[in-house]
Order: sequence, then structure tokens, then C-alpha cells
Amino acid sequence: MDPKDLFSANLLDGGIATCIEGQHTPSVIVIGAGISGIAAARSLYDASFKVTVLESRGRRGGRIHTDYSLGCPVDMGASWLHGVCNENPLAPLIRRLGLTLYRTSGDNSVLYDHDLESYMLFNIDGSQVPQETVVEIGETFKRILEETGKVRDEHPDDMSVSQAISIVLDRHPELRQNGLAHEVLQWYICRMEAWFAADADMISLQTWDQENVLSGGHGLMMQGYGPVINALANDIDVRLNHRVTKISNGYNKVMVTVEGGRIFIADSAIITVPLGILKANLIEFEPKLPDWKVSAIADLGVGNENKIALRFDNVFWPNVELLGVVAPSSYACGYFLNLHKATGNPVLVYMAAGRFAYDLEKLSDESAANFVMQQLKKMFPDASEPVQYLVSHWGTDPDSLGCYSYDLVGKPTDVYDKLRAPLGNLFFGGEAVSIDNQGSVHGAYSAGVMAAENCQRYILENQGHVDIVSVRHEVLASTIPLQISRM
Ligand SMILES: Cc1cc2nc3c(=O)[nH]c(=O)nc-3n(C[C@H](O)[C@H](O)[C@H](O)COP(=O)(O)OP(=O)(O)OC[C@H]3O[C@@H](n4cnc5c(N)ncnc54)[C@H](O)[C@@H]3O)c2cc1C
Repeated sequence: MDPKDLFSANLLDGGIATCIEGQHTPSVIVIGAGISGIAAARSLYDASFKVTVLESRGRRGGRIHTDYSLGCPVDMGASWLHGVCNENPLAPLIRRLGLTLYRTSGDNSVLYDHDLESYMLFNIDGSQVPQETVVEIGETFKRILEETGKVRDEHPDDMSVSQAISIVLDRHPELRQNGLAHEVLQWYICRMEAWFAADADMISLQTWDQENVLSGGHGLMMQGYGPVINALANDIDVRLNHRVTKISNGYNKVMVTVEGGRIFIADSAIITVPLGILKANLIEFEPKLPDWKVSAIADLGVGNENKIALRFDNVFWPNVELLGVVAPSSYACGYFLNLHKATGNPVLVYMAAGRFAYDLEKLSDESAANFVMQQLKKMFPDASEPVQYLVSHWGTDPDSLGCYSYDLVGKPTDVYDKLRAPLGNLFFGGEAVSIDNQGSVHGAYSAGVMAAENCQRYILENQGHVDIVSVRHEVLASTIPLQISRM
């Protein structure tokens, strides 16, 4: 259907322009009901726009997915608030909802979301690694990373973090490790890869440590992230099971087609689908996306991370936050998050990132759980069988196709500006377009709010309004402190 026929067509739905008090009510379609889309919709709804959210899944939240089937909240997607501080844009809402955080680390770096004293590492045979070795190799790893900074200064062209580590180890043979110490070093690399959800040979040396991490360390959302989504989505018109297949824009209208052929029309649209979906060309754009936008979509990486959550009827593991398995390669290393320490529930969550996360998705859920249990039984021969388990598949999930974005080697410097740039009345949100904190919940939230602000401005200016309605959340100011259970 040609956009110029929009006004004469009789199949207007969703964001049809209606008149309130003699004026045209601006209408916006938000595509995707993850935190970014919901935040955008909330902003527009609070500013009295007509908003319809189209979501392909049968649930809200996207890469936030708090599962309750184990008898307690378990986040199979995002689980940490990175930056437990008042500057975090989610802090006012988390405070107002009275949600509790369990701080796993006060460290503001991207490398560790756990404090060293709460690790317990084991080798592949199940023997515990002496804590002195864990601490000592942790220091060595920091030293190696510092040296990669010098490699970066010497090489104007980007390279991968793993290439830079090889150069450092060639230059400083004393930093090379053997035997168990080498395996512990691989474990640290595995933890770094987990942050980016990508293997070290894919991560950009130029930018890996350039993220503006908020202060206050990293806090687990003890009740899960679900309540945040529910609160933000209150009263918002979210149409579940509405998979967008085509977006046409022109003549100051956007026409959005969903699977089954139904069409929604509005003044503007905000696209918050994951970068993996855009990369896979699962949505047709009319007119086609310009080449610079297509390149920006291709030039940013999407990583993968998966979780296997196991619920037991007894706790047979020690009271530490993280149980790690060291191995000769970072690919073969692994770790379990001990939810029992944080929340009191007898649940361990195995976390895998990068290529290994993709390989896990090739297994049946039962085989994946068995694989993880084999690791656990090496550490704890008396481990009981889980009474229930959950397995995520973020890499092959057709609604995410990956877990979050990261900087590929050689990423152009303007890639985020291009990803974020609107195309007329089409605006882009989602974690990948966040200004400072890609790959995070708070970054996705801010990106949604920013897309909504730009969209509002565009529509109101286009309609000749001089006064721009400002985005106003109910909860911006609060004197209630964040509730942190471990300081
Ligand atoms: C395993 C894992 C662990 C993570 N851990 C953390 C963490 O601890 N802390 C943290 O801050 N961040 C973490 N993240 C990242 C965080 O979850 C994301 O950055 C954030 O949730 C992304 O929000 P979003 O709204 O941009 O995207 P999404 O949540 O993916 O929302 C996009 C929505 O678009 C929908 N959609 C897709 N295609 C279509 C279509 N064709 N039509 C309509 N709708 C469509 C999807 O179903 C989805 O609901 C993690 C992510 C994963 C996967």
C-alpha cells in the first residue's frame, strides 16, 4: 500500500490519528516490548501521546526474562544492575518499587562483577585451586591487560584483545603461565569474555575498556528484573504476538505490517528490536534502509550468553558467590552463580558466553543440563540431581538472535551515531544505540527514553507546536535509598 493512500484507506488500526479537544493527537508505534521499547512508550504515554507497542513474543521484557517456574525469581536474561548508584537512570524506579540489590562487587571496572574473595575455583579434576593462586594470577592478568594498553598505543590499527595478549606474552615471557596457573589465567579471560559475550579474538583492543561504567559496582536484582518491566508497562497498550514484518514510512506517516498482514499506522515509529534481528534482515523497510545505516548494523557485533539454572532440594556447595571451573582454554572454563548466597534459594546458574554459548544451544536442554551436572559432580562428587532446570537459547531465539552488542575489531568510530540516527519519522532505540552503556539494561532504558524525546520533538515541531512537551516520569526524584543487602 502506498503511504500517500493512508488517509483514504479504511484499514487504519493502532495509531490512527484521532482528534482530542480539536487537535490531532500525535501517535507513535513502538516496535519491541523490551526495556527500551517500554521506556520509550512510557515516556510518550506520560506526555499524552497515543502509543501502541507491537511485540513479537507472547510476553513483555525481551532480554529481561524473570522466570518463576523454579519457585523463585530467576533471571534468564539480564540479572545485574551495573552501577549501583543514584546516577543510574533505573535507580529511582528500583527505589520506588522497593527492590533489593545484592552487590556482588564494588568494583567499577568492566572486568569483574564479583569480588575476588567470593570466588572458589576448581580444576577439571575437581580439586580446589589455592586462593593464593587465584589472587596472584588475577594480578598477573591485570598486568597483562595494562601491557596491552601499550600495544594499543603503538598500533593505530585495531586488533583483537587476544592478539594483543599474545604480543604481550611474547614480550614478557615472565607473564606466561604454565599448568594450573595457565588454567586460572584462562579463567580470567573467560570472565572477561563473559562481559562482552564474545571470545577474546573478536573483541576490539581499541575500545574494550572505554565504556563509561557507572560507579557503585554491580548488584544482582534479588526479586529479578521482571517487576521493573511490569511497573513501566502499566497502562501501556502492548500488543503481544504481533511480529512486525514490514515498516514503510513517508508522507509523515509510518505504516507497520505484522505477521498475518494486519497494518498499524501512526505519525512515527520507534524501532527497538535487537541488533541481531536487524542484522538478519527479518524486517523489510520501504524505502530500503540507506547504505550507511546498513553498514552500521553490520559493523557492530552481537554476542551470545546462555544460562542453565538448576534447582536442587538441598544445598551441597559452599557459601561463595561464584564456583568456577578452570581449564587449559578459556572456551573450556566455566562458572556457576550461587543464587543461594544472594537470595537463599537453592539454585545454581551456570553461565556460558561466546562460541561456547552457541555450542551449548546445539544440545538438547537435557544434554546441556547433563553437561553442567558433570562439571558440578567433579567439584562435588556427592552432588544431588537437580529437581528442575531451565536452559536459555538467546543465540538462536528468533526474537533476539544474540544476547547484546559489543565492539568488533575495527569498529568505525561513528557506528553508534549512525545506528541511532533517525530516518525521518523512524527512530531507533534498543541497547545497541545507547550512548554510553550498550549491552546493559540501564543503557537500553536510556536509549528508549532518548528515542522517545527525539520522536516527540520531531512530531510536535512537524505539527507546528512551539511548546515541546517534556518527558516526565512520575518517579524521577526520590529520597528513598537503594536497598543493598551486601555492602
Ligand atoms: C543472558 C543475558 C544476560 C544479560 N545480563 C545483563 C545484566 O546482568 N545486566 C545488564 O544490565 N544487562 C544484561 N543483559 C543485557 C540486557 O538484557 C539488554 O541490554 C536489554 O535487556 C536489552 O533491552 P532492549 O529493549 O534493547 O531489547 P530487548 O529486550 O531484546 O527488546 C526487544 C524486543 O523486540 C521484540 N522483537 C524482536 N523482533 C520483533 C519483531 N519483528 N516485531 C516485534 N517485536 C520484535 C523482542 O521479542 C523483544 O521483546 C543480558 C542479556 C542477556 C541475554
